[in-house]
Amino acid sequence: MRTSLRPTTAPNPFGAPYVAPIREVAPGSPAEAAGVGVGWSLVSVNEAWVSDVLAYRRELAKGEATLLACDPAGERSVRFQVAWEDPGLEFDDVIFDGLRLCANKCEFCYVHQMPKGFRKSLYVMDDDYRTSFLYGSFVTLTNLTDDDIQRVLDEHLSPLYVSVHTADEDLRADMMKWWRLKVQDPRATRIRDMIERLEPIDLYTQVVAQPGRNDGEALDATLAYLTSRPNVQAVAVVPVGLTGHRRNLPDLRGYRRDEAGQVVDQVESWQARLLAERGSRMVFLADEFYLVGERPLPSADAYEGFEMLENGVGMVRDFLAPGIDVAALPSGLGSPRRVLCATGTLFAPVLEAALAPLRAVRGLDLEVRALTNRTFGDVTTVAGLLAGRDVLTQVRPGEADVLLLSPSMLKYGTETLLDDRTLDDLRRELRMDVAVGGQDIQALADAIVSGVAVGSDPQFGYSTHAIKETVGQH
Ligand code: SF4
Repeated sequence: MRTSLRPTTAPNPFGAPYVAPIREVAPGSPAEAAGVGVGWSLVSVNEAWVSDVLAYRRELAKGEATLLACDPAGERSVRFQVAWEDPGLEFDDVIFDGLRLCANKCEFCYVHQMPKGFRKSLYVMDDDYRTSFLYGSFVTLTNLTDDDIQRVLDEHLSPLYVSVHTADEDLRADMMKWWRLKVQDPRATRIRDMIERLEPIDLYTQVVAQPGRNDGEALDATLAYLTSRPNVQAVAVVPVGLTGHRRNLPDLRGYRRDEAGQVVDQVESWQARLLAERGSRMVFLADEFYLVGERPLPSADAYEGFEMLENGVGMVRDFLAPGIDVAALPSGLGSPRRVLCATGTLFAPVLEAALAPLRAVRGLDLEVRALTNRTFGDVTTVAGLLAGRDVLTQVRPGEADVLLLSPSMLKYGTETLLDDRTLDDLRRELRMDVAVGGQDIQALADAIVSGVAVGSDPQFGYSTHAIKETVGQH
């Protein structure tokens, strides 16, 4: 399902403020029996408009429900009833009344430093508590009204994923510049108050850390506050992500090696204390801190189930965890093969070291290529923000038999890269087989040795609060 930016404007004769376009009607379902077709819209359930898929499910959970649907022209309508059974409808979107957009202007926002010309969904500034609940996208809670809070509590929309950044509310307001835009309820910017009002709701929180801004003592104070709240389940500390397209934006910089190391020391000290006191580390660091700080990655156990994997917390350890079954590697290939593994500059050295056992395989010409991000600028080092054009400008046609890309370079569930080039486009232009490299190091090693492309099937895209796709990866 997609999420819409605006309420749908599909025609309907009932004066509904919004309707829910229908993407699929299950064969043999009550909806099909009533004559509802694909392209129709759901207008109401139990004579009430439904704002989103959560409200739809809530009405159905009452047992007996009357649904009203209309055809694409708004000329024909049917009313049909269900009693506990599934009506058989799938919708275009999960949000029917329009996505709640962000009311902030964070100094580190990725959307503001995106180059122009990408697909629209990459510029969506989603700050909707419903997609947070449905997909795990991070929201700031600054646009929540009292009614929204009541709904979250009444429907127990738990867990939610919250961008806190700092528990110092003046500093938070300054980092998020929320006063520049219209905020529906200024009280909502008080993050402590929000966290406390939402006490029955589990919260997974994140801190986007900036050197010298909200780290150091400010981070200590934030962690002290968050770890004292009973509903806060975990805190992810992730470094500010910058691109080379920061025009007319505050002058920010990323972490240097020594600074990243200090954050690792600081958070590991919190982890040790929390683990001793309550049996959980609660605070987790994005991989980037370890890689930039040139510190050893924690063990897989230290991520306690990798609950914030999609936020770049533990992805590298998770990928490396199975290791390569060296005993199962062939001594040589039947015929020579040139394989190129392309990834971002941050991860390339780690991958190079992890693939070392394959160097012993005769006939295998293996290269790990660190692609510079020419699309976002070389300050952007993660693989997930490499575009097809970065591949095409740094891989020569025919220079390998197989090119394996990092799975995070593809849009979730597709074979499409950030700039809408597809794997097929790359195959054609580079005159070689192109695939993604597998979900873990063993799968990648298998793909390299067997020469069998493993398909696309990406696990994650690059997901932060600042760059989102209108798909399930939020
Ligand atoms: S980082 Fe998120 S909350 Fe901040 S301005 Fe960008 S989209 Fe809005």
